[in-house]
Amino acid sequence: MTERAECVLCPNPSPMTLDGTNTWLLAEPGSDEVVVVDPGPLDEAHLQHVVRRVSESGRRVALTLLTHGHADHAEGVGRFAELTGAPVRGFGRGHDDLRAGETVRVGGLEILAAPTPGHTSDSFSFVLPADNTLLTGDTVLGRGTTVVAWPDGSLEAYLASLEHIEALTRAGEVTSLLPGHGPFVADAAATVTFYLKHRAERLEQVREAVARGAQTAYDVVEQVYADVPRSVWPAAELSVRAQLDYLRAHA
Ligand SMILES: [Zn+2]
Repeated sequence: MTERAECVLCPNPSPMTLDGTNTWLLAEPGSDEVVVVDPGPLDEAHLQHVVRRVSESGRRVALTLLTHGHADHAEGVGRFAELTGAPVRGFGRGHDDLRAGETVRVGGLEILAAPTPGHTSDSFSFVLPADNTLLTGDTVLGRGTTVVAWPDGSLEAYLASLEHIEALTRAGEVTSLLPGHGPFVADAAATVTFYLKHRAERLEQVREAVARGAQTAYDVVEQVYADVPRSVWPAAELSVRAQLDYLRAHA
């Protein structure tokens, strides 16, 4: 995908996980130390596949990082640690907490840990400065848009995180995205601009639905999310609850 990142796709496709979870393998060229981001769900075959991919290239897993604690990214992390012996770092949930802005160095590779809460409160993104790329977990996906997983997720935090990523693209520090689901994003700036525009449009639609008399989050989903498949309506309802909270706070 980039000089320092390759993807192993977990076979867990669904309306929420798109093609499945992207497990990312990061390494400095020539180094035998690999950082694995998001080993994925507890899927023994996938975890073994990731370990094999690393060992067959004469390398070893030196560190595992988590973008956030959702099961489709992190459920397999305990088993993966057994298989690799590598430490696990993430934010909260019993892991050695990453610090905001911390630079993680492994085998010559530099990874900058950037908190990007909103999808969840524990969401982190990881900058690979040498490749001008950003691993976004579920904060920005390779296709479509993501969910603000209320009540842990927050729209206020999510918008601030998108603006932070937008600032990284404006500064030229990030030109592409490696998402937690869906394909490689070659144009980070355009995608983040689209995400911010989409959020503003949805928020306006929710505001209008409430003004028209929508009483519950479900009423709002029926009016505002008529264009998305019903299979993702439960997730849309969480995003609506997050938007209603935001509108109340900013009334
Ligand atoms: Zn998630």
